[in-house]
Amino acid sequence: MSSPEIPSFRYHPDPVGTGSIVPSGDECDACGDRRGLLYTGPVYSVEELEGICPWCIADGRAATQFEASFTDVEPVPTGVPSAVIDEILHRTPGFAGWQQEQWLFHCGDGAEFVGRVGFAELRHHPDALQMLASDGNPPELIEALAVDGDATGYLFRCRSCGQHLAYADYL
Ligand SMILES: [Zn+2]
Ligand SMILES: [Zn+2]
Repeated sequence: MSSPEIPSFRYHPDPVGTGSIVPSGDECDACGDRRGLLYTGPVYSVEELEGICPWCIADGRAATQFEASFTDVEPVPTGVPSAVIDEILHRTPGFAGWQQEQWLFHCGDGAEFVGRVGFAELRHHPDALQMLASDGNPPELIEALAVDGDATGYLFRCRSCGQHLAYADYL
């Protein structure tokens, strides 16, 4: 069983790298196929789902079949086209956080999710650090952020202007 090229997700370009999609020999609940990869992130749906393949996320089949969404966008940002919100909710793999995950937006569009980061990675992105500070996170907490720690940063990048965005989440 080989793993074919996974579909491209413009708001979550590397879902295997972020850990949202993992190798699995199990069947997809939507198409019933064993395609070698399943989604592990959050699913908000009417039914409890065991696993969805990235293809059934990309083409909207899982969202339609199970009335599922893979992220919660609350509140819906103003000035972002509803087609963008729809794509992020229904055709983009989400990611698991400690608390309710957030999707970030910039320049009237959804930002792309880069992945979990700690202070070591954030130091390369002063724009993201500044956003964390202006969100009210104290410096000692920002410096304690770690990819696998009890406090983690979630890094996004604006698809238009390239600015990095982040929020912090604590256990
Ligand atoms: Zn499938
Ligand atoms: Zn921007």
